[in-house]
Amino acid sequence: MYSCLPSRVVFGRGALEKLGAEIERLGATRALVLSTPEQRAAADDIAVRLGARAAGVYAKAVMHVPIETAEAARAVARDLDADCCVAIGGGSTIGLGKAIALTTELPILAIPTTFAGSEMTPIYGITAQGQKKTGRDARVLPRTVIYDPVLTMTLPARIAGPSGMNAIAHCVEALYAEDANPITSLMAEEGIRALTRSLPTVVNDPADLDARAQALYGAWLAGACLGSVGMAVHHKLCHTLGGSYNLPHAETHTVVLPHAVHYNRDAAKEAMARISRALGGDEAAGGLYDLARSIGAPLSLRDIGMKASALDEAAQLATHNPYYNPRPIEFEAIRRLLQNAWEGRRPG
Ligand code: NAD
Repeated sequence: MYSCLPSRVVFGRGALEKLGAEIERLGATRALVLSTPEQRAAADDIAVRLGARAAGVYAKAVMHVPIETAEAARAVARDLDADCCVAIGGGSTIGLGKAIALTTELPILAIPTTFAGSEMTPIYGITAQGQKKTGRDARVLPRTVIYDPVLTMTLPARIAGPSGMNAIAHCVEALYAEDANPITSLMAEEGIRALTRSLPTVVNDPADLDARAQALYGAWLAGACLGSVGMAVHHKLCHTLGGSYNLPHAETHTVVLPHAVHYNRDAAKEAMARISRALGGDEAAGGLYDLARSIGAPLSLRDIGMKASALDEAAQLATHNPYYNPRPIEFEAIRRLLQNAWEGRRPG
């Protein structure tokens, strides 16, 4: 079965100029603008562009949407009588918009400024009592997405690189998803190709707007894949490591991905061939490791705050209630995978 996500996408250099027309199209007259504290200036700029259609700015989004933040933002939306949320930022800010939409059904206009892909998915996550719960709900899918590469110019290389690897991870797992279909597989392969070609330039030549547009195109494809099909062992591992050990989201994806791909190498041969083709011919797992290294992204769990003493427990947690995966989930092999990822070894 294949169903297409019904978002409207406005893409390209200068696309932000269409903001007024897009808000009008949504019929919104009192938009609440969301951002992180770090992107407050960008949110204020959006409010100025919206003029009388802006109801206010809420610049308190943080990673993983704590329930307290979600409830505070919902209260602000209610007090301001908002009829729409405009989320400018990465997955954290768009995630806050989704938490508001989940209970209020306010439409979201998303303006992504990283490559995480959250803007194209009906997946939300909210953290309560140290546990992040995720779900799918059509109400949280942004109605309109404005991709403007100019907005990524301020994204530091140390965030841009891992964020792009996070997008590649969505594409990789879409290729061996249980419910993969020919359309999502085309999008996934093209997403890996676009990100592989653009990320080294995004990181090494921050002024190159064409590379940033290519990376955003890859992020769009990656988000569409994540929103359409189920994910597997890699996302389960990252969810466990991020949720239980508070590791940084995009960096965890970057480190684990080559090892998760290596784990599945014999169980998903066609996916491996497509990943390899998209990487430009390199073997899938090793090629992903080399890509991460070439963009200066972290390569080991040790370097991003994971304690060696927690690896046994992490393997237990990650093998409990596993997601579908092309290769059965085996405790010993997952424990070895985590050891290799902790040490930062090149797989294979
Ligand atoms: P993020 O949103 O946490 O942003 C990281 C930092 O970069 C923040 O301080 C942010 O303000 C800053 N930033 C973002 N864009 C910037 C720019 N252009 N210039 C300067 N600073 C900028 O990072 P992320 O990786 O985009 O999102 C991670 C979160 O998104 C995680 O919680 C993850 O679970 C979630 N996510 C959800 C989905 C989904 O489909 N629901 C998909 C991917 C990620």
